[in-house]
Amino acid sequence: MPVKIAGEWLNSCSGCEIAILNLGETLLDLLPELDFVHIPVLMDHKHYGQLGDKKHMDIPKATVGLVSGGIRNEEHLEVAHEMRKKCDILIALGTCATHGGIPALINSYTNEELFDQYYHTESTDPGAEVPGNGLSPLLDRCYALDEQIKVDIYLPGCPPHPDQIGGAILALLKGETPELPFRSVCDTCPTIREGKGKVKEIRRFTEAPQFDPEKPVSEMRCLLEQGYLCAGPVTRAGCAGNDGEAPRCISARVPCRGCYGPVRQNGNQLMDMLNALVTNGIDISSLPDRNSLLRFSGAHNRLTAKGGM
Ligand code: SF4
Ligand code: SF4
Ligand code: SF4
Repeated sequence: MPVKIAGEWLNSCSGCEIAILNLGETLLDLLPELDFVHIPVLMDHKHYGQLGDKKHMDIPKATVGLVSGGIRNEEHLEVAHEMRKKCDILIALGTCATHGGIPALINSYTNEELFDQYYHTESTDPGAEVPGNGLSPLLDRCYALDEQIKVDIYLPGCPPHPDQIGGAILALLKGETPELPFRSVCDTCPTIREGKGKVKEIRRFTEAPQFDPEKPVSEMRCLLEQGYLCAGPVTRAGCAGNDGEAPRCISARVPCRGCYGPVRQNGNQLMDMLNALVTNGIDISSLPDRNSLLRFSGAHNRLTAKGGM
């Protein structure tokens, strides 16, 4: 009998759902064994009945729940609890769900500061009311899923590589628990590391790193050793997929921005990176913006409006 799957997207952009579609032919092969009972971004199944005629949220029961996005407002919270109630195994899909992702950058500001920035500008009426009619009230900040509901499996990535989504579904079909290896992006990076002549200050990316575009990335020197702030040492591996390719950004000759979140689920990319830089003799005062190291993992009180981390 096909395994029932339900999906939901909360404080998210739909990129994680596109990553499911990017499974391509693997998805076609898997489809006879899967029964998608609810996944709003990909099929028309409404929360309160197709005609809006139901009084209570109507997400069907499923064996596996895929939830992308963190939790930012009361609607997200209600949907997240409903998914938890209806799904036997709940997967946090993507870094927004596992660590807050880009939307959790807002945690550096209070809601009042946010509304002031957008609705009380020099060109608007300073006394104007913040529009709220019919909108779900915001929570105090953006939460990762596991701050509000129990999560069984974490699939980070912005978005997760389709190989990992496919691997997780296949493992579940076999009755196994999918497990991601605890490795860093550096562990999957083929660049040349000489470990000598290390830089003392971080270089801005306005100046291109040195590489020969005619040669493979394996002949480029490590971007961190060239002085660029590459978050590879403190970011979980996965974006290279299963085919032994280089990490995505490194293939494009740009530093890793940390989109898979910390190597360990409860790690802190900012503190880990500061440690890595100090260990390598790099002056951390040359970092232009420390909080940007948490641009994908600002939930779990890592980023706070009081400037904490
Ligand atoms: S993890 Fe990235 S791709 Fe997925 S919902 Fe968040 S922003 Fe979009
Ligand atoms: S720091 Fe960046 S460029 Fe260097 S090995 Fe790690 S991921 Fe590759
Ligand atoms: S190299 Fe880093 S930022 Fe780029 S896709 Fe991979 S994990 Fe994400």
